[in-house]
Amino acid sequence: MQVACGFTLLTLRKVLLMMKTADAVVIGAGVNGASIAFNLLKQGLKKVVILERYLVASGGTGKSAAIIRQHYSNEPLVRMMKRCIQVFSQFNEIVGGSAGFVNTGWAFLIPEGAVDAFGKNMSMQQSLGIRTKEISRQELQDIEPRFNLDDVAKIAYEPDSGYADPHLTTTSYVQAACSLGGEIVQCNPVTSLTIEKDRVAQVNAAKGSIATNIVVNAAGPWAGKVAAMAGLNIPIQVSREEEILIAPPPGEPPVRLVVSDMAKAIYYRPDASRVLVGRGYPKEYTYVDPDRFSGDTSFEFIDDAAGRLASRMPVFGNALVEHAYTGLYDITPDWHPVLGRTSVDGFFLAAGFSGHGFKLAPAIGELIAEEIVSGRATSIDISGFGLERFEKGRLFAAAYGGNRA
Ligand SMILES: Cc1cc2nc3c(=O)[nH]c(=O)nc-3n(C[C@H](O)[C@H](O)[C@H](O)COP(=O)(O)OP(=O)(O)OC[C@H]3O[C@@H](n4cnc5c(N)ncnc54)[C@H](O)[C@@H]3O)c2cc1C
Repeated sequence: MQVACGFTLLTLRKVLLMMKTADAVVIGAGVNGASIAFNLLKQGLKKVVILERYLVASGGTGKSAAIIRQHYSNEPLVRMMKRCIQVFSQFNEIVGGSAGFVNTGWAFLIPEGAVDAFGKNMSMQQSLGIRTKEISRQELQDIEPRFNLDDVAKIAYEPDSGYADPHLTTTSYVQAACSLGGEIVQCNPVTSLTIEKDRVAQVNAAKGSIATNIVVNAAGPWAGKVAAMAGLNIPIQVSREEEILIAPPPGEPPVRLVVSDMAKAIYYRPDASRVLVGRGYPKEYTYVDPDRFSGDTSFEFIDDAAGRLASRMPVFGNALVEHAYTGLYDITPDWHPVLGRTSVDGFFLAAGFSGHGFKLAPAIGELIAEEIVSGRATSIDISGFGLERFEKGRLFAAAYGGNRA
Protein backbone atom coordinates (compact mmCIF):
# COMPACT_ATOMS: atom_id res chain seq x y z
CA MET A 1 0.00 0.00 0.00
CA GLN A 2 1.50 3.31 -1.05
CA VAL A 3 0.38 6.27 1.01
CA ALA A 4 0.33 9.89 -0.12
CA CYS A 5 2.66 12.12 1.83
CA GLY A 6 0.17 14.43 3.50
CA PHE A 7 -1.79 11.41 4.58
CA THR A 8 1.33 9.85 6.12
CA LEU A 9 2.14 13.04 8.00
CA LEU A 10 -1.32 13.39 9.39
CA THR A 11 -2.03 9.84 10.38
CA LEU A 12 1.44 8.36 10.94
CA ARG A 13 -0.04 5.07 9.84
CA LYS A 14 2.30 2.21 9.37
CA VAL A 15 3.11 1.99 5.69
CA LEU A 16 4.76 -0.68 3.68
CA LEU A 17 7.25 0.87 1.31
CA MET A 18 6.39 -0.23 -2.19
CA MET A 19 8.60 2.12 -4.17
CA LYS A 20 11.61 0.14 -5.25
CA THR A 21 13.52 2.77 -7.22
CA ALA A 22 14.13 6.49 -6.84
CA ASP A 23 16.10 9.23 -8.58
CA ALA A 24 17.34 10.25 -5.14
CA VAL A 25 16.89 9.25 -1.50
CA VAL A 26 17.34 11.81 1.25
CA ILE A 27 18.13 10.33 4.67
CA GLY A 28 16.64 12.51 7.41
CA ALA A 29 13.55 14.73 7.59
CA GLY A 30 15.13 17.58 9.52
CA VAL A 31 14.94 21.02 8.01
CA ASN A 32 17.97 20.41 5.79
CA GLY A 33 16.81 17.05 4.40
CA ALA A 34 13.35 18.47 3.77
CA SER A 35 14.73 21.53 1.96
CA ILE A 36 17.08 19.36 -0.13
CA ALA A 37 14.26 17.03 -1.18
CA PHE A 38 12.03 19.96 -2.16
CA ASN A 39 14.78 21.62 -4.18
CA LEU A 40 15.78 18.38 -5.94
CA LEU A 41 12.20 18.11 -7.17
CA LYS A 42 12.03 21.80 -8.01
CA GLN A 43 15.23 21.46 -10.05
CA GLY A 44 13.82 18.60 -12.08
CA LEU A 45 14.20 15.21 -10.40
CA LYS A 46 10.98 13.18 -10.52
CA LYS A 47 11.22 10.49 -7.82
CA VAL A 48 12.67 11.74 -4.56
CA VAL A 49 12.05 9.87 -1.32
CA ILE A 50 12.79 11.11 2.20
CA LEU A 51 13.44 8.33 4.70
CA GLU A 52 13.06 9.38 8.32
CA ARG A 53 14.11 7.31 11.33
CA TYR A 54 11.29 8.71 13.48
CA LEU A 55 9.21 11.81 12.70
CA VAL A 56 9.64 15.07 10.79
CA ALA A 57 11.88 17.48 12.77
CA SER A 58 12.52 14.93 15.51
CA GLY A 59 16.31 15.59 15.44
CA GLY A 60 18.15 18.83 16.13
CA THR A 61 15.57 20.81 14.15
CA GLY A 62 12.71 20.17 16.57
CA LYS A 63 14.61 21.70 19.50
CA SER A 64 16.06 24.61 17.54
CA ALA A 65 15.79 28.21 18.70
CA ALA A 66 15.49 28.86 14.94
CA ILE A 67 17.21 32.24 15.18
CA ILE A 68 17.82 33.75 11.76
CA ARG A 69 20.68 36.26 11.44
CA GLN A 70 23.16 37.04 8.69
CA HIS A 71 26.26 37.91 10.70
CA TYR A 72 28.92 35.32 9.80
CA SER A 73 32.71 35.39 9.47
CA ASN A 74 33.03 33.69 6.09
CA GLU A 75 31.68 34.94 2.77
CA PRO A 76 29.94 31.77 1.58
CA LEU A 77 27.79 31.65 4.73
CA VAL A 78 26.95 35.35 4.42
CA ARG A 79 25.95 34.81 0.78
CA MET A 80 23.83 31.83 1.85
CA MET A 81 22.11 33.89 4.54
CA LYS A 82 21.35 36.68 2.08
CA ARG A 83 19.43 34.12 0.05
CA CYS A 84 17.87 32.52 3.15
CA ILE A 85 16.41 35.83 4.32
CA GLN A 86 14.72 36.17 0.91
CA VAL A 87 13.26 32.68 1.22
CA PHE A 88 12.09 33.04 4.84
CA SER A 89 10.53 36.45 4.01
CA GLN A 90 8.67 35.11 0.95
CA PHE A 91 8.27 31.50 2.02
CA ASN A 92 4.77 30.99 0.65
CA GLU A 93 5.74 32.31 -2.79
CA ILE A 94 9.06 30.43 -3.04
CA VAL A 95 8.29 27.17 -1.20
CA GLY A 96 4.60 27.15 -0.22
CA GLY A 97 2.98 27.19 3.19
CA SER A 98 4.59 28.99 6.10
CA ALA A 99 7.90 28.99 7.96
CA GLY A 100 6.37 30.99 10.81
CA PHE A 101 8.99 33.66 10.20
CA VAL A 102 8.77 36.59 12.62
CA ASN A 103 10.80 39.63 11.56
CA THR A 104 11.68 41.08 14.97
CA GLY A 105 15.11 42.35 14.00
CA TRP A 106 18.30 40.87 15.50
CA ALA A 107 20.96 42.45 17.72
CA PHE A 108 24.46 41.12 18.36
CA LEU A 109 26.00 42.30 21.65
CA ILE A 110 29.80 42.25 21.52
CA PRO A 111 32.19 42.47 24.47
CA GLU A 112 35.38 44.55 24.37
CA GLY A 113 37.59 41.57 23.40
CA ALA A 114 35.84 40.92 20.07
CA VAL A 115 35.71 44.46 18.70
CA ASP A 116 38.37 44.05 15.96
CA ALA A 117 36.81 40.90 14.53
CA PHE A 118 33.42 42.57 14.65
CA GLY A 119 34.60 45.53 12.56
CA LYS A 120 36.05 43.25 9.85
CA ASN A 121 32.91 41.14 9.71
CA MET A 122 30.61 44.15 9.46
CA SER A 123 32.60 45.58 6.52
CA MET A 124 32.57 42.25 4.71
CA GLN A 125 28.82 41.78 5.27
CA GLN A 126 27.98 45.31 4.10
CA SER A 127 30.15 44.83 0.99
CA LEU A 128 28.00 41.76 0.17
CA GLY A 129 24.79 43.77 0.45
CA ILE A 130 23.62 42.64 3.89
CA ARG A 131 21.43 45.22 5.65
CA THR A 132 23.39 45.45 8.88
CA LYS A 133 24.56 48.47 10.83
CA GLU A 134 26.31 49.31 14.07
CA ILE A 135 23.99 50.98 16.55
CA SER A 136 24.65 52.70 19.88
CA ARG A 137 23.56 51.42 23.29
CA GLN A 138 20.96 54.20 23.33
CA GLU A 139 19.56 53.12 19.96
CA LEU A 140 19.18 49.55 21.24
CA GLN A 141 17.58 50.81 24.44
CA ASP A 142 15.10 52.74 22.28
CA ILE A 143 13.97 49.31 20.99
CA GLU A 144 14.33 47.43 24.31
CA PRO A 145 14.51 49.89 27.25
CA ARG A 146 14.83 47.08 29.81
CA PHE A 147 18.39 46.16 28.78
CA ASN A 148 21.36 46.89 31.03
CA LEU A 149 24.20 47.28 28.50
CA ASP A 150 27.17 48.17 30.74
CA ASP A 151 29.33 45.27 29.51
CA VAL A 152 28.57 45.77 25.80
CA ALA A 153 31.24 47.38 23.59
CA LYS A 154 29.64 47.11 20.14
CA ILE A 155 26.18 46.29 18.78
CA ALA A 156 25.23 45.06 15.31
CA TYR A 157 21.61 45.39 14.24
CA GLU A 158 19.95 43.55 11.35
CA PRO A 159 16.44 44.84 10.65
CA ASP A 160 15.58 41.95 8.28
CA SER A 161 16.39 39.10 10.70
CA GLY A 162 14.28 37.33 13.32
CA TYR A 163 13.22 33.76 14.01
CA ALA A 164 10.98 31.06 12.56
CA ASP A 165 9.03 27.98 13.64
CA PRO A 166 11.30 24.96 13.06
CA HIS A 167 8.51 22.35 13.00
CA LEU A 168 6.33 24.41 10.67
CA THR A 169 9.23 25.21 8.33
CA THR A 170 10.19 21.55 8.01
CA THR A 171 6.64 20.32 7.57
CA SER A 172 6.05 23.00 4.92
CA TYR A 173 9.16 21.88 3.02
CA VAL A 174 8.07 18.23 3.21
CA GLN A 175 4.55 19.05 2.06
CA ALA A 176 5.90 21.21 -0.77
CA ALA A 177 8.15 18.32 -1.82
CA CYS A 178 5.20 15.97 -1.77
CA SER A 179 3.13 18.36 -3.88
CA LEU A 180 5.89 18.08 -6.51
CA GLY A 181 5.65 14.29 -6.45
CA GLY A 182 8.08 13.48 -3.63
CA GLU A 183 7.40 11.02 -0.85
CA ILE A 184 8.29 10.61 2.79
CA VAL A 185 8.32 7.46 4.87
CA GLN A 186 8.50 8.08 8.61
CA CYS A 187 9.37 5.64 11.41
CA ASN A 188 11.71 4.04 8.91
CA PRO A 189 15.40 4.07 9.92
CA VAL A 190 17.97 3.44 7.22
CA THR A 191 20.00 0.45 8.38
CA SER A 192 22.56 -0.01 5.61
CA LEU A 193 23.66 1.12 2.17
CA THR A 194 24.59 -1.13 -0.71
CA ILE A 195 27.71 0.20 -2.43
CA GLU A 196 28.80 -1.39 -5.70
CA LYS A 197 32.17 -0.48 -7.25
CA ASP A 198 32.44 2.69 -5.13
CA ARG A 199 28.96 3.81 -6.22
CA VAL A 200 25.74 3.97 -4.22
CA ALA A 201 23.32 1.33 -5.47
CA GLN A 202 20.64 0.83 -2.81
CA VAL A 203 19.33 2.17 0.47
CA ASN A 204 18.11 -0.45 2.95
CA ALA A 205 15.65 0.65 5.61
CA ALA A 206 13.31 -0.94 8.14
CA LYS A 207 10.36 -0.78 5.75
CA GLY A 208 12.19 -1.94 2.62
CA SER A 209 14.97 -1.19 0.15
CA ILE A 210 15.14 1.41 -2.60
CA ALA A 211 17.46 1.18 -5.59
CA THR A 212 18.98 4.58 -6.33
CA ASN A 213 22.21 6.15 -7.51
CA ILE A 214 21.85 9.30 -5.42
CA VAL A 215 21.76 9.37 -1.61
CA VAL A 216 21.96 12.50 0.55
CA ASN A 217 23.07 12.06 4.13
CA ALA A 218 21.12 14.73 6.03
CA ALA A 219 20.97 12.74 9.24
CA GLY A 220 22.14 15.51 11.59
CA PRO A 221 23.56 14.04 14.82
CA TRP A 222 23.34 10.56 13.26
CA ALA A 223 25.21 11.60 10.10
CA GLY A 224 28.42 9.95 11.30
CA LYS A 225 26.59 6.63 11.68
CA VAL A 226 25.00 6.97 8.22
CA ALA A 227 28.36 7.91 6.63
CA ALA A 228 29.88 4.79 8.18
CA MET A 229 27.31 2.76 6.22
CA ALA A 230 29.06 4.08 3.09
CA GLY A 231 32.48 3.30 4.56
CA LEU A 232 33.22 6.97 5.28
CA ASN A 233 34.45 8.60 8.44
CA ILE A 234 33.16 12.12 9.00
CA PRO A 235 34.47 13.99 12.02
CA ILE A 236 31.23 14.92 13.77
CA GLN A 237 30.80 15.07 17.52
CA VAL A 238 27.35 15.27 19.09
CA SER A 239 26.73 17.56 22.05
CA ARG A 240 23.77 18.08 24.40
CA GLU A 241 22.23 21.53 24.14
CA GLU A 242 19.76 22.87 26.66
CA GLU A 243 17.20 25.66 26.46
CA ILE A 244 14.64 27.23 28.79
CA LEU A 245 11.41 29.15 28.32
CA ILE A 246 10.78 31.96 30.79
CA ALA A 247 7.44 33.55 31.57
CA PRO A 248 7.86 37.32 31.92
CA PRO A 249 6.83 38.88 35.23
CA PRO A 250 3.16 39.96 35.27
CA GLY A 251 2.54 42.93 33.02
CA GLU A 252 5.90 42.65 31.24
CA PRO A 253 6.07 41.71 27.55
CA PRO A 254 8.69 39.20 26.39
CA VAL A 255 11.97 40.52 24.98
CA ARG A 256 11.19 42.65 21.94
CA LEU A 257 13.78 41.33 19.48
CA VAL A 258 16.13 38.41 18.87
CA VAL A 259 19.53 38.78 20.54
CA SER A 260 22.82 36.92 20.25
CA ASP A 261 24.53 38.13 23.39
CA MET A 262 28.22 37.30 23.19
CA ALA A 263 28.91 39.43 26.28
CA LYS A 264 26.71 37.14 28.43
CA ALA A 265 27.30 33.97 26.28
CA ILE A 266 23.55 33.47 25.76
CA TYR A 267 20.96 33.98 23.05
CA TYR A 268 17.32 34.88 23.61
CA ARG A 269 14.22 35.71 21.68
CA PRO A 270 10.48 36.05 22.11
CA ASP A 271 8.51 32.80 21.90
CA ALA A 272 4.87 33.87 21.81
CA SER A 273 4.37 35.28 25.32
CA ARG A 274 7.58 33.78 26.72
CA VAL A 275 11.34 34.25 26.33
CA LEU A 276 13.47 31.43 24.96
CA VAL A 277 17.03 31.36 26.34
CA GLY A 278 20.01 29.18 25.40
CA ARG A 279 23.76 29.24 26.04
CA GLY A 280 26.19 30.30 23.33
CA TYR A 281 29.94 29.88 22.97
CA PRO A 282 32.13 29.82 25.05
CA LYS A 283 30.84 27.11 27.37
CA GLU A 284 31.53 23.49 28.29
CA TYR A 285 30.27 20.89 25.82
CA THR A 286 29.08 17.42 26.83
CA TYR A 287 29.54 14.93 23.98
CA VAL A 288 27.09 12.05 23.71
CA ASP A 289 25.86 9.17 21.57
CA PRO A 290 22.64 10.45 19.88
CA ASP A 291 20.98 7.10 20.59
CA ARG A 292 21.83 7.22 24.31
CA PHE A 293 21.77 10.60 26.02
CA SER A 294 19.91 12.17 28.90
CA GLY A 295 17.10 14.48 27.83
CA ASP A 296 16.88 15.93 31.35
CA THR A 297 17.87 19.58 31.54
CA SER A 298 20.22 20.17 34.45
CA PHE A 299 19.39 22.38 37.43
CA GLU A 300 22.73 24.15 36.89
CA PHE A 301 21.82 25.08 33.34
CA ILE A 302 18.38 26.38 34.30
CA ASP A 303 19.73 28.59 37.08
CA ASP A 304 22.70 29.77 35.04
CA ALA A 305 20.75 30.66 31.88
CA ALA A 306 17.98 32.42 33.82
CA GLY A 307 20.59 34.35 35.83
CA ARG A 308 22.42 35.48 32.69
CA LEU A 309 19.18 36.78 31.17
CA ALA A 310 18.32 38.58 34.42
CA SER A 311 21.70 40.28 34.46
CA ARG A 312 20.92 41.66 30.98
CA MET A 313 17.25 42.41 31.79
CA PRO A 314 17.03 42.99 35.57
CA VAL A 315 13.23 43.11 35.36
CA PHE A 316 13.39 39.35 34.65
CA GLY A 317 15.09 38.69 37.99
CA ASN A 318 11.95 37.13 39.48
CA ALA A 319 10.63 35.60 36.30
CA LEU A 320 9.40 32.02 36.29
CA VAL A 321 11.17 29.34 34.27
CA GLU A 322 8.23 27.47 32.74
CA HIS A 323 9.85 24.84 30.61
CA ALA A 324 13.25 23.30 29.86
CA TYR A 325 14.40 20.82 27.22
CA THR A 326 17.50 19.33 25.65
CA GLY A 327 18.48 18.83 22.01
CA LEU A 328 21.59 17.86 20.07
CA TYR A 329 24.21 19.66 17.99
CA ASP A 330 26.23 17.86 15.29
CA ILE A 331 29.61 19.58 15.49
CA THR A 332 32.53 19.47 13.04
CA PRO A 333 36.10 20.46 14.04
CA ASP A 334 35.70 23.98 12.54
CA TRP A 335 32.00 24.42 13.38
CA HIS A 336 31.09 24.65 9.68
CA PRO A 337 28.94 22.09 7.85
CA VAL A 338 30.30 19.37 5.62
CA LEU A 339 28.66 19.59 2.21
CA GLY A 340 28.70 18.00 -1.21
CA ARG A 341 29.98 14.92 -3.00
CA THR A 342 32.26 12.30 -1.47
CA SER A 343 34.64 9.58 -2.65
CA VAL A 344 31.62 7.25 -2.89
CA ASP A 345 29.97 8.14 -6.18
CA GLY A 346 26.41 9.37 -5.64
CA PHE A 347 26.75 9.74 -1.85
CA PHE A 348 26.36 13.38 -0.79
CA LEU A 349 26.74 15.05 2.59
CA ALA A 350 24.71 17.85 4.16
CA ALA A 351 25.55 17.52 7.83
CA GLY A 352 27.64 18.84 10.70
CA PHE A 353 25.68 22.06 10.99
CA SER A 354 27.31 22.75 14.35
CA GLY A 355 24.42 24.47 16.08
CA HIS A 356 23.61 27.03 13.37
CA GLY A 357 22.05 25.00 10.55
CA PHE A 358 18.39 25.90 10.82
CA LYS A 359 18.77 29.32 9.27
CA LEU A 360 20.95 27.96 6.44
CA ALA A 361 18.47 25.30 5.26
CA PRO A 362 16.81 27.25 2.41
CA ALA A 363 20.18 27.86 0.74
CA ILE A 364 21.54 24.40 1.58
CA GLY A 365 18.59 22.80 -0.20
CA GLU A 366 19.16 24.85 -3.33
CA LEU A 367 22.92 24.31 -3.35
CA ILE A 368 22.93 20.56 -2.72
CA ALA A 369 20.25 20.17 -5.40
CA GLU A 370 22.42 22.17 -7.84
CA GLU A 371 25.40 19.98 -6.96
CA ILE A 372 23.37 16.86 -7.75
CA VAL A 373 21.26 18.00 -10.70
CA SER A 374 23.79 20.27 -12.46
CA GLY A 375 27.00 18.59 -11.30
CA ARG A 376 28.13 21.64 -9.31
CA ALA A 377 26.61 24.22 -6.99
CA THR A 378 26.61 27.33 -9.15
CA SER A 379 24.71 30.00 -7.23
CA ILE A 380 27.28 29.98 -4.36
CA ASP A 381 30.67 28.25 -4.30
CA ILE A 382 30.53 25.47 -1.71
CA SER A 383 33.73 23.71 -2.75
CA GLY A 384 35.43 24.74 0.50
CA PHE A 385 32.92 22.76 2.58
CA GLY A 386 33.96 19.30 1.33
CA LEU A 387 34.92 16.41 3.59
CA GLU A 388 38.51 16.52 2.32
CA ARG A 389 39.10 19.86 4.07
CA PHE A 390 39.61 18.04 7.37
CA GLU A 391 42.33 15.77 5.95
CA LYS A 392 44.00 18.62 4.09
CA GLY A 393 43.87 20.94 7.10
CA ARG A 394 41.85 23.59 5.22
CA LEU A 395 39.53 24.38 8.10
CA PHE A 396 37.39 27.49 8.21
CA ALA A 397 38.48 30.18 10.65
CA ALA A 398 35.74 32.11 12.47
CA ALA A 399 35.82 35.41 14.29
CA TYR A 400 34.00 34.46 17.47
CA GLY A 401 34.19 30.66 17.82
CA GLY A 402 31.63 27.91 18.35
CA ASN A 403 28.17 28.07 16.87
CA ARG A 404 28.54 31.76 16.04
CA ALA A 405 30.84 30.69 13.16
C1 LIG B 1 18.94 23.68 21.31
C2 LIG B 1 19.28 24.05 19.90
C3 LIG B 1 19.19 25.38 19.48
C4 LIG B 1 19.50 25.73 18.17
N1 LIG B 1 19.34 27.02 17.78
C5 LIG B 1 19.58 27.36 16.48
C6 LIG B 1 19.32 28.67 16.02
O1 LIG B 1 18.90 29.53 16.78
N2 LIG B 1 19.54 28.96 14.70
C7 LIG B 1 20.03 28.03 13.84
O2 LIG B 1 20.24 28.36 12.67
N3 LIG B 1 20.29 26.77 14.25
C8 LIG B 1 20.07 26.41 15.54
N4 LIG B 1 20.29 25.15 15.97
C9 LIG B 1 20.88 24.19 15.03
C10 LIG B 1 19.87 23.71 14.03
O3 LIG B 1 18.63 23.46 14.68
C11 LIG B 1 20.39 22.45 13.35
O4 LIG B 1 21.68 22.72 12.80
C12 LIG B 1 19.47 22.02 12.24
O5 LIG B 1 18.13 22.00 12.63
C13 LIG B 1 19.90 20.64 11.78
O6 LIG B 1 18.97 20.20 10.81
P1 LIG B 1 19.31 18.90 10.00
O7 LIG B 1 18.18 18.70 9.06
O8 LIG B 1 20.67 18.99 9.41
O9 LIG B 1 19.39 17.74 11.11
P2 LIG B 1 18.28 17.17 12.10
O10 LIG B 1 17.23 18.14 12.38
O11 LIG B 1 19.01 16.59 13.26
O12 LIG B 1 17.62 16.03 11.26
C14 LIG B 1 18.26 14.79 11.00
C15 LIG B 1 17.15 13.77 10.83
O13 LIG B 1 17.74 12.56 10.39
C16 LIG B 1 17.02 11.50 10.96
N5 LIG B 1 17.85 10.29 10.91
C17 LIG B 1 18.98 10.06 11.61
N6 LIG B 1 19.46 8.83 11.31
C18 LIG B 1 18.62 8.29 10.42
C19 LIG B 1 18.55 7.03 9.74
N7 LIG B 1 19.47 6.07 9.94
N8 LIG B 1 17.53 6.80 8.90
C20 LIG B 1 16.57 7.75 8.67
N9 LIG B 1 16.58 8.95 9.29
C21 LIG B 1 17.59 9.22 10.13
C22 LIG B 1 16.75 11.99 12.39
O14 LIG B 1 15.71 11.30 13.01
C23 LIG B 1 16.45 13.47 12.15
O15 LIG B 1 15.06 13.72 12.00
C24 LIG B 1 19.95 24.75 17.25
C25 LIG B 1 20.01 23.41 17.65
C26 LIG B 1 19.66 23.06 18.95
C27 LIG B 1 19.73 21.62 19.36
